[in-house]
Amino acid sequence: MVSRVIPVDSFDLVVFGGTGDLARRKILPGLFRRFLAGQMPEDARIIGAARAEMDDAGFRALVAEAIGEFGGPASRKADELARFLDRLHYVAIDAKGDGGWPALAQAMRPDVVRAFYFSVAPALFGDLAERLHRHGIATPESRIVVEKPFGRDLASACALNATLAEHFTEHQIYRIDHYLGKETVQNLMAVRFANILFEPLWNARHVDHVQITVAETVGVDGRGSYYDKSGAMRDMVQNHLMQLLCLIAMEPPYRFDPDAVRDEKLKVIHALEPVRPEDIVRGQYRGAGKGTKGSYTDDAENRDSRTESYVALKVNIANWRWKGTPFYLRTGKKLRARASEIAIVFKEVPHSIFGEEEGWRENVLSIRLQPNEGMTLSVMIKEPGPGGMRLTEVPLDMSFADALGEDGTDIPDAYERLIMDVIRGNQTLFMRGDEVEAAWAWTDPIIAGWETRGDKPRGYDPGSSGPEDALMLLHRDGRRWREIRE
Ligand code: NAD
Repeated sequence: MVSRVIPVDSFDLVVFGGTGDLARRKILPGLFRRFLAGQMPEDARIIGAARAEMDDAGFRALVAEAIGEFGGPASRKADELARFLDRLHYVAIDAKGDGGWPALAQAMRPDVVRAFYFSVAPALFGDLAERLHRHGIATPESRIVVEKPFGRDLASACALNATLAEHFTEHQIYRIDHYLGKETVQNLMAVRFANILFEPLWNARHVDHVQITVAETVGVDGRGSYYDKSGAMRDMVQNHLMQLLCLIAMEPPYRFDPDAVRDEKLKVIHALEPVRPEDIVRGQYRGAGKGTKGSYTDDAENRDSRTESYVALKVNIANWRWKGTPFYLRTGKKLRARASEIAIVFKEVPHSIFGEEEGWRENVLSIRLQPNEGMTLSVMIKEPGPGGMRLTEVPLDMSFADALGEDGTDIPDAYERLIMDVIRGNQTLFMRGDEVEAAWAWTDPIIAGWETRGDKPRGYDPGSSGPEDALMLLHRDGRRWREIRE
């Protein structure tokens, strides 16, 4: 089944920070793939805007190189690449000064969608927003896209929201969480709300617990000083894992509409119970020892760092649907495999008519976000053959790569999908300001607790599944983590 491509309206997309790492690795190669898919109208334009002095030709050369490096097989299509590069322009601007802004104003066309991607440090968001207005570039229909980190606590997130709100209304602001752009994440909503099968079971009566794992094999190499001020809780849990939790736990929205979906997600965040200190385990990868090669403190260039590169926690949701069903969340760096998975672990049958079968397993709906996006439902069946009634577990597998594309290459990357949603004006998969603030309001006391108590993260071996204590978090409740594997 080849996916249907619906072209979007014509647009001028300005990428502030168009020469930066995120633009080169994700945004520009993603736009090229949408161009190849035929989703970009003939006259759509992308305007790079950053501090470096260069002309259109210089920017096109930079983008061609980035696509060669990060664009995958698509980058080999030379004719198409040349046609894509023709749509690129560049204006040198200074976010903190007025240089370049009149030229940018001049470059914008009337009567097309105007979108501004703020792929720069958050400290510059206010400057960009203010200058877009002062120079008459932003219209009431213009959209801005902002990247994480969206604040580092509730106070800074509120300040950032207030700064943007001085110049843009909420319906113009697209806060990207690229986890929400993943095919599987959206499919989670389709599976829940377009089938009668799961929803009746989707509650504390039938679900024993939920596990959300986002495991990485990389360390913090190269961005250690940034990460050291953040840590796994701020960098991953407050945003990505929280968003996944909301999509699993939320009530059915009355319609698949941006505010209806986000209202339901917000209610979940409000229903989260404060997390008890004994329900959290923080970890830091240690290598041969503290400060040694291969250890976090070496990568972060801070021998005394107490920042966590791993966190596991048990989260309870205080509402009728979920009371009594814990959600276990974990994420970390330098773990044994790169794997992100949501697992809905159902309760056992109330009585086994087959006796105490060895190898008896609960049904698990596993939603894999990476690698190999897809879903698996494990079910018990009779072991084939004449050996009597012996049970075995088999997966009902739905790999999107197999089901939707010949080799999975026509599944768009999260960034591609989200940028096209910005052009279409669909905010469903973007975080609303109040959601971000509510998530920080829940996260802040957890982090403050560590700071007051002077908690130190537990060490774990690079390539392992995380600190030993994290295993206990589930063992204590008579449960076990699912294996982290690709
Ligand atoms: P970067 O440092 O590689 O690039 C920054 C860009 O901003 C450059 O193009 C630079 O020219 C421009 N810039 C800096 N100061 C400027 C000024 N005064 N006026 C105009 N332009 C200026 O940063 P990055 O890694 O691309 O990250 C950009 C944003 O995206 C940050 O907010 C970052 O936290 C976020 N982010 C990045 C990644 C990633 O993978 N790189 C992932 C998630 C979020």
